[in-house]
Amino acid sequence: MRAEREHPAVVRVDRIACSAHGACRAIAPEHLALDEWGYPIPSVVVTDGETAAALVRFCPAAALRRTTPD
Ligand code: SF4
Repeated sequence: MRAEREHPAVVRVDRIACSAHGACRAIAPEHLALDEWGYPIPSVVVTDGETAAALVRFCPAAALRRTTPD
């Protein structure tokens, strides 16, 4: 499990579901910024598995999904 968490992971923002809470910015400030309306940018983040899991878990709008690279 630990090794899986350390592997690179991709998280995508569902901009329709996102309600601009900004929690993702607090979790991963090195990867995400907020635009002038509070929506995260960019909409695709490559990070470590542990951060990806936290982003998905703590998004209050369930707008973050862990996925695979294109
Ligand atoms: S935490 Fe979720 S709802 Fe809030 S800004 Fe980030 S993606 Fe949007």
